[in-house]
Amino acid sequence: MNLILLGPPGAGKGTQAKMLSDKFSIPQISTGDILRAAVKDGTPMGQRAKEYMEAGSLVPDEVVVGIVRDRLQQADCNNGFILDGFPRTVAQADALQASLEQMGKELDRVISLNVEADALVERLTGRRTCKECGRGYHVTFDPPRVTGVCDACGGSLFQRDDDREETIRKRLQVYADQTSPLISYYRGAGVLTELDGMQPISQVQEKMLSQLQAS
Ligand code: ADP
Ligand code: ADP
Ligand code: ZN
Repeated sequence: MNLILLGPPGAGKGTQAKMLSDKFSIPQISTGDILRAAVKDGTPMGQRAKEYMEAGSLVPDEVVVGIVRDRLQQADCNNGFILDGFPRTVAQADALQASLEQMGKELDRVISLNVEADALVERLTGRRTCKECGRGYHVTFDPPRVTGVCDACGGSLFQRDDDREETIRKRLQVYADQTSPLISYYRGAGVLTELDGMQPISQVQEKMLSQLQAS
């Protein structure tokens, strides 16, 4: 199953992608996670991406397109993949299409999560992320069993630098300007499923699974 999860920052893409990845044993490919790891390791790519990420703007297309093209060629993607946070521009979507065609693969579904702006801000300001495994939590909506500690791996939780109100507003605007056109792009391609992302995590998950099983 070859999937894309689409939606604004805070919509729940990462949360849902992790569950789908466990359920279907296919990898979650998060360009945000890959870029954050590169920044942490200080690689040339990370050094280039850092200032864009801190400002809440998009990293240049050629950087992320290269990351995803390489990642999709790895053997663990043969049974499927979940793209989380990519594509984010029409140019990225076109490049993805070209890569998939070259590999003889097709997209099965693009799930777009709809969440209101106020809820996005509330989710992102309360988001906490595991330093070790990248799992996301929320101080109110999805708290860990022990405050500040990851349930999955025991790693410590931190607040991402870009999860502060001013940068959040900027990222939401970037989504509206540069990423939201992908909704009609994928609707036109006949692969779009829109889902109400305002419900609790478990209910969104259930709806998503039933949509995937129906398609
Ligand atoms: P994205 O990857 O789309 O940016 P995340 O999956 O990281 O979003 O979710 C953003 C924050 O909102 C996290 O703190 C997460 O725990 C929380 N969250 C995710 N889905 C829901 C939901 N359905 N209801 C309430 N909070 C949610
Ligand atoms: P969120 O889902 O909360 O917006 P991500 O972890 O997906 O956060 O992305 C964090 C940052 O990484 C983005 O604000 C952007 O700077 C960069 N980034 C991630 N994916 C892409 C992409 N596909 N294209 C350009 N920049 C990206
Ligand atoms: Zn962890």
